[in-house]
Amino acid sequence: MNLLAEMSWLQVKEYLARDDRLILPLGSTEEHGPHLGLGTDSLEADAIARGAGEATGVVVAPTLNYGMALALMEFAGTVALRPTTLIAVLEDVLRSFYRHGFRRVLVVNGHGGNTPALASAAQLVAQDCAGLRLKHFEWWTDAEAYRVVIEMLGEQTGSHASPGETAFMLAICPRAVRLDLLRGRDAPVQPSREMTTVQNFAQKYPDGIMGRDPGYATPEAGAAVLAKSVEICARELRAW
Ligand SMILES: [Zn+2]
Repeated sequence: MNLLAEMSWLQVKEYLARDDRLILPLGSTEEHGPHLGLGTDSLEADAIARGAGEATGVVVAPTLNYGMALALMEFAGTVALRPTTLIAVLEDVLRSFYRHGFRRVLVVNGHGGNTPALASAAQLVAQDCAGLRLKHFEWWTDAEAYRVVIEMLGEQTGSHASPGETAFMLAICPRAVRLDLLRGRDAPVQPSREMTTVQNFAQKYPDGIMGRDPGYATPEAGAAVLAKSVEICARELRAW
């Protein structure tokens, strides 16, 4: 596998002489209920990126382990970059890769709070990085990948720290899952026009879970979502 962290600059230079594709996993360090490790989003993005890298030979950049998680700051251990900081970090990272010759970058995002900053950074780098092409993948917003979650776990299993994510973690890092700490109840996502921020997130979702009881998760469902996500990302990389 081509992990940038394990390659020398000379190996990167040799790679760039024959290929200009890159996979950039984008994660977060934030609460995921009482039962999942804070690195859940990073680990998910990393697993998809590594799988796609292995399938295609495309270089995988180190995972960006911090994201925009301001709404979750009531929960111990959560780290939040301001949106402007995340935009700046993504701009600098993408410009660095561009400078060396990477021209096609697939960003595998693991956290919904990162999406607006990623979209903004993409618009900004596009202004002056001629020829830079960006794709992005999120397993929970991709209809094809998410269909696997619904087929295996039922409807309404998606949101934060709920069965979809728990299944994913059971498949890739079971030691960071503590199903015994669950209370066996749903935390329905409340549709509201009030924006969800740090001022109300913890009141609405006191233990940090949004959605159905995560106890419905199975490792088989997680493995299936991972496999489908890797398949989609590899397909996108090959189509470039
Ligand atoms: Zn998550």
